[in-house]
Amino acid sequence: MIRLHRTSSKTAQTEAREARMASAVAMRRDGLTQQQISDELGICIETIQRYLKDHKGKSGPQPGAEPKPKPRMFRRHCLCCNTKISVESPYLRMCGPCRGNARGAML
Ligand SMILES: [Zn+2]
Repeated sequence: MIRLHRTSSKTAQTEAREARMASAVAMRRDGLTQQQISDELGICIETIQRYLKDHKGKSGPQPGAEPKPKPRMFRRHCLCCNTKISVESPYLRMCGPCRGNARGAML
């Protein structure tokens, strides 16, 4: 299902989804069947299964399979010496040594 949402409604929807997921997970932990959870929350059983699967993926990371958040890097050439650099901000355009030199030069 693909829909476009405004940021605000998307956030609200995400919160509601997470609340339902938390309820479903708690009920499953209490020993309710997926059908019972479905009836209780008024959500179709496929959705419950997806919730539980998502939760399982989040709570039980497998060794070596843990997704690492990658910092976004920007590839630049240093403005001073033209060295290839990877920087965390698009506003950084000089390599470390040149930035050090530039700071020194500005004093
Ligand atoms: Zn440089």
